[in-house]
Amino acid sequence: MTSTASPVGGPDRLDPKTLVVAGGRPAHGHDGAVNHPVTFTSTYAYAPERNDPARTYARFSNPTWDPFEEVLATLEEAELPGLLFGSGMAAIAAALNLVPAGGLMVMPRHSYNGSLALVQELEAAGRLRVQLVDVADTDQVVQALEQADVLWIESPTNPMLEVADVTRLLSEARGKGVLSVVDNTFATPLLQRPLTLGADVVLHSVTKYLSGHSDVILGAVLTSNEELHAKLHGYRTLHGAIASPMDAFLALRGLRTLSVRLERSQANSQFLAEELAKHPAVGEVRYPGLVEDPGHQRAAAQMQGFGSVISFTVGDSAADADQVVAAFGLITAATSLGGVESLAERRARHASEPQSVPENLIRLSVGIEAATDLWADLARALDTLKR
Ligand code: PLP
Repeated sequence: MTSTASPVGGPDRLDPKTLVVAGGRPAHGHDGAVNHPVTFTSTYAYAPERNDPARTYARFSNPTWDPFEEVLATLEEAELPGLLFGSGMAAIAAALNLVPAGGLMVMPRHSYNGSLALVQELEAAGRLRVQLVDVADTDQVVQALEQADVLWIESPTNPMLEVADVTRLLSEARGKGVLSVVDNTFATPLLQRPLTLGADVVLHSVTKYLSGHSDVILGAVLTSNEELHAKLHGYRTLHGAIASPMDAFLALRGLRTLSVRLERSQANSQFLAEELAKHPAVGEVRYPGLVEDPGHQRAAAQMQGFGSVISFTVGDSAADADQVVAAFGLITAATSLGGVESLAERRARHASEPQSVPENLIRLSVGIEAATDLWADLARALDTLKR
């Protein structure tokens, strides 16, 4: 039994900063635990006269998923419970299963490379067709929607941090009867809530900011549409793309601090982006919080913060970028993002990264360490490029 804080969208609606802490708790009671237990089971005993279909087998449901799914739905303002998946990619696969057979999907050319790889595999198998677009070029996307069945949005994109006009694109998609899916991993529901702007489906790599400690792999999908929800739920059950109960517990525990983590990591990001932009070894800096960033005005208008990922080019070759990454001490050279610790990598080291991502681009996921220590580490690593 969980206590939902207050009705979604109602006059008593709690601030998201409170919801991450207060949502999905057991009902208050004398001697009651303040957290839900972790339920380790593969099946549920049943009374033949009752035969409750909600708890049949643990591939279909697990009570440890419920509070996380409830809080995330409240945060994203979904009218139906969220659906937790075993990874962000499992959530993406479930959403791609909504594309009609042979249907055309419009997708940012700089989407997460795993999403691009899966879509390209499905295209090669004849399952769907894809048209890649510059998602920041609204006219180009709107034109592509004329023939489309599904619009896939990532904003800001990974790793180029392009910002789409999310409100306009979702309204165009809706007007044209095009199903829309938004990967909201980079923004989190604290910075942008696409369902409120007309998206049909929102998904997350819960691995990143929502869980926030680089210790679980999880995904989630949200929708307010009953038919889509039933399809996504059916996909999760039949493909077995489920979360471990321990991971679900850790994700909810991590979610409790999302608001304070974001506050610090965004303040750090703004400071570091401004310092990076002044450093002679740095070429282009992409961070929507920089006034000169091409996505700044759009992000300022449609998001409640600029996020905590910075992408920047260094020197003039892959070797220069590798040298800088190798020189980091405090910052860990690793892929992924959204954890409390800062991580950085030369993004084009992945063969699957789009060719248009510069070979000397470093993607930095900014953590919650002291900004001065992070800048000292960055500056020292960049200074190794001085000849
Ligand atoms: N979506 C985005 C934007 C990502 O950055 C990632 C992973 O980096 C994923 C989805 C995939 O998530 P996961 O690694 O949890 O499968």
